[in-house]
Amino acid sequence: MRCFRPPVISLYPAANILYTRCQMFRSSIHADSHHDAAFSVKGLTRHYPQPPDFPEKNARWIYVSGNGVAVCGNKTPKVYSEFSPAPEIRQKSCIEYLGEGKSGIYYAAELPDGVPLPEGRVVSGVRELWGHIPNEDLAVAAYAVRMIDCAKANRFCGRCGTPTEPVLTERAWQCPSCRRIFYPRISPAIIVLIKNSDKVLLARSPRFPEGMFSVIAGFVEPGETLEEALHREVKEEVGITVRDIRYFASEPWPFPDSLMIGFTAEYAGGEIEIDNNEIVDAGWFGRDNLPQLPARMSISRALIERWIHDGS
Ligand SMILES: [Zn+2]
Repeated sequence: MRCFRPPVISLYPAANILYTRCQMFRSSIHADSHHDAAFSVKGLTRHYPQPPDFPEKNARWIYVSGNGVAVCGNKTPKVYSEFSPAPEIRQKSCIEYLGEGKSGIYYAAELPDGVPLPEGRVVSGVRELWGHIPNEDLAVAAYAVRMIDCAKANRFCGRCGTPTEPVLTERAWQCPSCRRIFYPRISPAIIVLIKNSDKVLLARSPRFPEGMFSVIAGFVEPGETLEEALHREVKEEVGITVRDIRYFASEPWPFPDSLMIGFTAEYAGGEIEIDNNEIVDAGWFGRDNLPQLPARMSISRALIERWIHDGS
């Protein structure tokens, strides 16, 4: 991963770009996996313009505080509330429509500083809820945090400073003065498992817990294709070249706004030479000497697991 601010692309143009690129993959790169992305909000359908009023019944609220959500219940946490925010909280809060799902219409409501939590609830980080609630709910909780953050980040036009207004036909905000439209930011990043005979390359970032290794990842820079970003990141971080890039799967990674696009590749040449900045250790690992691996909820672990079990 690069440390500088990643390139910014907007939600809907990104969808178009990735759709087009996926069409290209079908002809040039074989897609051979259906990774179950933990943070995909496939359970929600967004309809625009969004409902004009909060429904009296069948609304599901997620209360967001900072990067966490308010949950109740110790053994089986619940992230949803059927109770809409009190009018005095609504006046101070940022409220975002999330979409429609099997239990009704979902909304996120910010809990402003100084406002007490709803009774019986505590704030939990979203990652900490993994494994304790269904992935479907985990994804909606992460999405709620993201959308509240996006709404707050786009309150003012970045070009002229005028307060923005929500766009009714899509999730976006528009400046009434210069007409510029702001979409939720998505930062695309490649992630790649590099294979060499019966071993794979795993590397350690200084950000990782002690002893943990993972696959190579990095943000796409403006003007790059995904394939070019992959070649560059691999060369920069571990000094080798790769060939035979194959698409694996993708997943949203909302910490805060990445879209991970996963690949496998074959080692082509060069000696491992770490950059000692983004990578502090790297090596070739076989199935019988694997180091500590990333959490199972990530696409990095999915790439490694598939190689462990079927070698592809
Ligand atoms: Zn403006």
